[in-house]
Amino acid sequence: MQKFGIVGAGGAGFPSYAKLAEGADLLLINGSECEPLLYTDYVILKNELTMVLSGISAVLSHTGIHKAIIAIKEHNATSLGMVNGQRLADNIFVTVLPNVYPIGDEIGLIYEATGRLVKPGNLPITEGVIVYNVETMYNLGRAVRFSEPVTKKWLTVGGALENPTVIKVPIGAKVADIFKKLDIKLKEGYTVLDGGPSMGKIINPATYAITKTTKGIIILPDDTQAVISKKMNVKMAVARAETACCQCTRCTDMCPRNMLGYPLEPHKMVRTAMGVAEVIPEMVLSATLCCGCGICESLACSQGISPRAVIENYKGLLSKNKLRFNLRGEYSVRDEREYRMIPYTKWMSAQGITHFDKATDFGGEINDFERVEIPLSRHIGAPSVAAVKDGDNVCKGDLIAKAGNGLSLPQHASIAGSITLGNDKIIIDKVR
Ligand code: SF4
Ligand code: SF4
Repeated sequence: MQKFGIVGAGGAGFPSYAKLAEGADLLLINGSECEPLLYTDYVILKNELTMVLSGISAVLSHTGIHKAIIAIKEHNATSLGMVNGQRLADNIFVTVLPNVYPIGDEIGLIYEATGRLVKPGNLPITEGVIVYNVETMYNLGRAVRFSEPVTKKWLTVGGALENPTVIKVPIGAKVADIFKKLDIKLKEGYTVLDGGPSMGKIINPATYAITKTTKGIIILPDDTQAVISKKMNVKMAVARAETACCQCTRCTDMCPRNMLGYPLEPHKMVRTAMGVAEVIPEMVLSATLCCGCGICESLACSQGISPRAVIENYKGLLSKNKLRFNLRGEYSVRDEREYRMIPYTKWMSAQGITHFDKATDFGGEINDFERVEIPLSRHIGAPSVAAVKDGDNVCKGDLIAKAGNGLSLPQHASIAGSITLGNDKIIIDKVR
């Protein structure tokens, strides 16, 4: 997996080879497509199921794990003609998930699909589970069958568009070039996200290039709740929390991590921001347990407060000081969880995006890009180290950067062309 530059294709960018630890008895493939408006994994499953199954079989035979399940949300499973428990290949089965948000959060997904609860602050392997994304398995399938490194990315281009689509492009393609090829003209008052409306981040399409973790490029009007939340200034959010919170505890009651029994209580975080409670180290450390789903700010709080922003603020401080949550005591799932889960449609409505959710299918592969910019540090761990120099000519698939020391990945040319080294990226210009 490392040799082919395979990274978790939809999350924080964890190098996939590093998940192959001892002690797992179940391989869980996350096909939940938790974020509204994204159809990338759905399209891969629809068009490339055989390749995905090849990747899964490779992991099963390498690790000796006897069972894999592909977890898919109900509405996508129905469209794909799949049912709960269906056998897709030797030792590979379908698990149908309820249409709720958030369901793709690794911890919630494991509990929903297997009934196993990963203890707060622990990794899935402690419960015997390895989790990979659908596209990661597709990439591994191509690596196993064709010795092909990761040079292309599947992504949804959607949101406020007449015809949202899923396309396949070279890694490093600029968003502006993709818009040109799809004849998308960005209007004043619209924001572009890398990722879905709930957890995606705002990007500048003029300069932003597709990475190995880009699941979608979503365009939304600035006045949708999804965009307003992202543009909220953290200082302002904390100031609002200081003045307006009535301590109703609704944010905690609806928090999906709290429902799983995790000691994460957003209303208490807000209380510390208000200065009416002493800052207790254990409580602040629990900020690292937040999955950033945004339910507390977009759905729970009627005072316009963002507990998520307050928690993000704490998370930043904790990460700077390399502090993590320490596991103590016993935790168990709350009985109310079952009836407090948020229906997917309700979540889309809270985000103001229901009318942008349209049937989306594969729009084809786009390859004729004049330039790509391949980042060296968009994965967790050490940056890749350039293995080429200015002016070198490379072919598609050539190694252009080696893995750095420790946890890291190599990078490969996604188009043929001439190299220019940037600070934290390698630029390839097509030779005319
Ligand atoms: S829901 Fe809003 S008002 Fe209620 S405790 Fe949470 S932050 Fe405070
Ligand atoms: S964003 Fe809010 S609701 Fe979601 S996990 Fe974090 S604290 Fe809980």
